[in-house]
Amino acid sequence: MKALVLTEFNKKMEVKEVPEPTLEDNGVVIRVKANGICRSDYHFMKGDLSWVGMQLELPHVLGHEFSGVVDKVGRDVTKFKEGDRVVVPHAHGEGTCEYCMTGHSNICDHGSVAGVSYWGGFGEYVHVHDADRNVVQLPESISFEAGAALGCRFMTAFHGLVDQVKVKPGEWVAVHGSGGLGLCVSHVASAIGARVITVDINDEALELAKEFGAEFTINGSKEDAVQRIVEITGGGAHVAVDALGITATCQNAINSLRKRGRHLQLGLTSSDEQGKVELPVDLIVVKELEFIGSSNMPVSRFSAMLNMIESGVLHPEKMITRKVSLEEAADIIINMEEFKTPGLSVVNQW
Ligand SMILES: [Zn+2]
Ligand SMILES: [Zn+2]
Repeated sequence: MKALVLTEFNKKMEVKEVPEPTLEDNGVVIRVKANGICRSDYHFMKGDLSWVGMQLELPHVLGHEFSGVVDKVGRDVTKFKEGDRVVVPHAHGEGTCEYCMTGHSNICDHGSVAGVSYWGGFGEYVHVHDADRNVVQLPESISFEAGAALGCRFMTAFHGLVDQVKVKPGEWVAVHGSGGLGLCVSHVASAIGARVITVDINDEALELAKEFGAEFTINGSKEDAVQRIVEITGGGAHVAVDALGITATCQNAINSLRKRGRHLQLGLTSSDEQGKVELPVDLIVVKELEFIGSSNMPVSRFSAMLNMIESGVLHPEKMITRKVSLEEAADIIINMEEFKTPGLSVVNQW
């Protein structure tokens, strides 16, 4: 089969012929129809994230945002049959640890990650183990491309806003960073009734944020984002989101909060920070701020998000700005350094 293969860190990936995956008894082989391109792919390509214990063995096929059609079914699988349309939330739990047992499979003690723990969706076929637990049916009304757009950033935005910081209608949400993840945050926050202010340094990304519900946008390279947010909201946002993961977005997000505000950290840091950002600790104390992390989404929460898409409240399909081939994906990923990739790009041509 054809796949985009990472053979060396920090080097452009190449399309090559590789063996098709083998079917395990509890797994399914999926013929990939669409796979989203994510900033994490850029980090993996660079060899980043070793500081959170992620080190890929090479050669490797990335791709953790995929949807497709079930092609082969292991004999122990009960929920899927050949031809089913499916999507794969990329954080897998093994089902027995205390976190899985209490509904938090996304932070499983023995978890695995699609496209990281095993070869992912930048190939024609993917094998997903423990399919009954880790694969979700994709409703007919949702396209494969939209399904691929859900499996990472969209679900991360949803879980962070709805389950972790519990955004309420009418609250001010300041979104710092309007790449793929930030755009999803602006969209989901406005869909649940919050008033959204989005900050970025790219005007094109800000225009997109407006289309997806941002009431105000601020270009942080032209004006003081924190000061503007405090002015607009009359004292600061109720919720601030770092949707990028660099020192500036993290610190600006915290500084843009009102008293008792909640900071939601969604972005993972890059090689500059290696996981460490200086925080205004005294401000966190005297303003009684909360700093909340959020990672992916438990599979059990996927149906709530699918319901909101089917009912027309959320529109992942409108966020897709580019549909590309495997070869084009390699170019997009190596060029992500420049932050010039507004919206979501999805591979749907092999
Ligand atoms: Zn991703
Ligand atoms: Zn577990």
